[in-house]
Amino acid sequence: MRVPLIAGNWKMNNTIEESLYLAKSLAEFSKSFNKDREILICAPFTALYALKTVLKSSKIKLGAQNMHYEESGAYTGEISPLMLKDIGVDYVLIGHSERRQYFNENDELLNKKLKAALKHGIKPILCVGETLEQREANVEKETVKTQIVKSLCGIDADCFKNIVIAYEPVWAIGTGKTASSDQANEIISYIRNVIKELYDEEISENVIIQYGGSVKGSNAAEIMAKPDIDGALVGGASLKAEEFINIINY
Ligand code: PEP
Repeated sequence: MRVPLIAGNWKMNNTIEESLYLAKSLAEFSKSFNKDREILICAPFTALYALKTVLKSSKIKLGAQNMHYEESGAYTGEISPLMLKDIGVDYVLIGHSERRQYFNENDELLNKKLKAALKHGIKPILCVGETLEQREANVEKETVKTQIVKSLCGIDADCFKNIVIAYEPVWAIGTGKTASSDQANEIISYIRNVIKELYDEEISENVIIQYGGSVKGSNAAEIMAKPDIDGALVGGASLKAEEFINIINY
């Protein structure tokens, strides 16, 4: 049985004080929340340590939004998997479209990051998705297939229980334009087939695949009702406790 994962991606928002305020509201809510779903906050690096203290006695998991693949070294400004492990981070986003778009992250680099996260026991959420131009050119399936095949190159089947995939069409991120639930389910079901071709049916049936792109309290239930969609990666709507709770509760 796949347990839905509802993850908030705070992006470059929230001071430590703001982060703690938001996390405390979510932690309080989670005390009486007993639906079978996992809740995650992916916060800026600067807030992770403080958040761990607030969240450790709650059901809410903690994630980072990026990570370098080396353990240490001369990589000014970067954060290593050992540093995240030290804080007790559970998840890390790998290849969010904003990292691909603004920081030129490519599938070869993401493959190294995925391997490093798995090696250090941090669960990677591999983000894939097509741009508007790619969708208009009808190459959305080829695009996500290439991203998945290249990013997963050399990753063993037994790592799969720790990998999450997020399908996030770039044209739906932060635009208010959500993919329809049918569009999202079609690509997520296709991703399951790609995983089946690369690994096997059991892995493809068990892997958690989220949808991301302008998910809100008002559209979460319809998206989550689709059979292949196992949760959401939520940007803007995760910055307000009430709205994020509406999504978690869908
Ligand atoms: C995201 O940041 O991954 C995202 C999906 O953002 P938004 O929900 O704001 O579209």
